[in-house]
Amino acid sequence: MIDLRSDTVTRPSTEMKAAMMEAELGDDVFEDDPTVKAFELLTAKTFGKQAGLFCPSGTMSNQMALMVHLKPGDEVITSRESHIYNYEGGGIARNAGASVRLIEGSSGLIDVDDVKFNINPDDIHYPVSKLVSLENTSNRGGGVCYKLQEIQKIKQFCNSVQIPTHLDGARLFNALVKTGDSALEMGENFDSISLCFSKGLGTPLGSVLVGTKEFIHKARRVRKVMGGGMRQIGMVAAAGIYALKNNVERLKDDHDNAKSIAAALANCSWIDSVVPVETNIIIVNLLAKYNNANFVEKLKEKGILVIPFGKGKIRIVTHLDITKKDVDQVIESVKF
Ligand SMILES: *Cc1c(COP(=O)(O)O)cnc(C)c1O
Repeated sequence: MIDLRSDTVTRPSTEMKAAMMEAELGDDVFEDDPTVKAFELLTAKTFGKQAGLFCPSGTMSNQMALMVHLKPGDEVITSRESHIYNYEGGGIARNAGASVRLIEGSSGLIDVDDVKFNINPDDIHYPVSKLVSLENTSNRGGGVCYKLQEIQKIKQFCNSVQIPTHLDGARLFNALVKTGDSALEMGENFDSISLCFSKGLGTPLGSVLVGTKEFIHKARRVRKVMGGGMRQIGMVAAAGIYALKNNVERLKDDHDNAKSIAAALANCSWIDSVVPVETNIIIVNLLAKYNNANFVEKLKEKGILVIPFGKGKIRIVTHLDITKKDVDQVIESVKF
C-alpha cells in the first residue's frame, strides 16, 4: 500500500534505529537522561530558545503550552481551522479552562488586523485576551506557510499589548524549508513553539516544546500532571537528534512529490479543484456528484490510501517513506 493518509505513518529507517540502539540512557523524570537533555537543548537552540521539553505527542506539547499561558477565564485567539481548536479533544476548555476566539482568516492563516480586532477591552463582561496561537504550516489550510513579515507584525502588536504568542509548529520545518526563512528569526516571534518529530521528520513519536527556562520549568510540572513524564526515553530522543541532522533538508523532496501528484490530480475527472500546493499536503475538492468515501475506496482498490477531510474534500500527504516510484504509481492511478 502507498500510504498518503498522513506524514505520521513514516517508520524509523535502519540508520535511525541504529542511532536509537546506541543512545546513552537515564531516567528523564529525574532529569538525568543525557540524550533527552541534548535533544531538548539542540531543538531549543535551533529556534534561539533557552530550553525545551520532550513529550509524547504534539497535542500534549500544545496543551502544555496552553495550560502554562492560560488560566480559566482567559481567552486564546486562533484560526477557526487550527489544530488546537479542531483536533485536540476540546483541550482548550478541558485542560486550560480557557475560552477561544476563533478567527475566520484565510487557509488557516490569520493576520495582524484579525488579532487587533479580536483583543477584548478591559471590561468585566469579556474573557481576558491572553494568548495568540498561530499554526505554521496550516494543516487544514493545505500545508500553507505564513509570511515571516506577517508573523513579525503580529508579534510587534502582541508585544505592544503584552500578549504572548504560541506557535503550533507541528510542520514548522516544512515551512522553513519551503520559505528559506531562518529558524532563529522565526523563533524570535514566539514565546513558545511546539514541534513534531513523528511527521515529516520520521521518528516513531515525540514532540518538543521550546521557550524560556522559566516557561519550560512550568511546562515540566504540567507534563508530569498529565502523565507525560517518560523514563529511559533517550532511545526516542536519539531518533529526534538523528532527524534534525538528516531529515530536515530532504523535506523538499516531499514538497516536490506533492506538486507532481497535485498536477496529476488536477486532470482527474472526479476532481473539481486542487488547493495550490506549498509543502507536503494536497487538498482536493471533488465535484458535487462524487462523494469522498467512494473516492477513498476507489484509490484503495488501486493500493493507495488517502483520507476524507470534510465534505467533498480529500487530504493527501507526502512523506519520507514515499519513493519516486510510488509517486509515479499514484500519477498513473489517478487517470480516471
Ligand atoms: C499533527 C499535528 C499536531 C499534533 O498531533 P498529534 O497527533 O498529537 O501528534 C498538532 N498540530 C498540527 C497542526 C498537526 O498537524
